[in-house]
Amino acid sequence: MFVCAVCRHEKSREDNVEKVFHVDGRYVLVRGIPSTVCARCGEPVFTRETTERTRALIRSGAAPAESTRMDTLDFAS
Ligand SMILES: [Zn+2]
Repeated sequence: MFVCAVCRHEKSREDNVEKVFHVDGRYVLVRGIPSTVCARCGEPVFTRETTERTRALIRSGAAPAESTRMDTLDFAS
């Protein structure tokens, strides 16, 4: 049964999400990752297989579908 690790909500939906990874000193956005998403807060959960396939994709050196500039903000303390 689904229980969200962030907000403990118990309802979820299947959806494709995007996520930024920091690997070997570079940031990579991976789009269209299948996941189970918390219906309340949107926290995604990936299966072990999906996580392994995502890591393999990032390390494969595949040509990016596109490149984009990313703004960076520091959390004000
Ligand atoms: Zn949640």
